[in-house]
Amino acid sequence: MPGATEPSHPVAKRILVVEDNELNMKLLNDVLEAHGYEVMSTGRGAEAVEWARQHLPDLILMDLQLPDLSGLEATRQLKANPETRHIPVIAVTAFAMAGDEKRALDHGCDAYVAKPIILKDFLNLIGGYIGVPEGPWPA
Ligand code: MN
Repeated sequence: MPGATEPSHPVAKRILVVEDNELNMKLLNDVLEAHGYEVMSTGRGAEAVEWARQHLPDLILMDLQLPDLSGLEATRQLKANPETRHIPVIAVTAFAMAGDEKRALDHGCDAYVAKPIILKDFLNLIGGYIGVPEGPWPA
């Protein structure tokens, strides 16, 4: 078990990445892992809701355009469940339109980011919720 022999190391913060575009998912996973986070990812909203209940990640990045359950509906379900409502959900959307941010926040999203993502701001936003792992990490 990783970490079992090194009890002084804190457990990595876990992020659930919900993103159906494989390239975007891989980019997000690589960047987050390179910055010391532990990542699990799925492209399906229903699976995201299920995994969040099972694994209780520290934070969720939620693409709003998903093939099954929309990211908004998945977030609504997560925030309706007392077991998962405390998990910060950052909505990520590729098609930012007027009213999107309000709609996302109305559905319980804690924050809203429009693609293309500005990495430094994005990492700062995540760090604001769950902290930044100890570095040094690649720029
Ligand atoms: Mn999508």
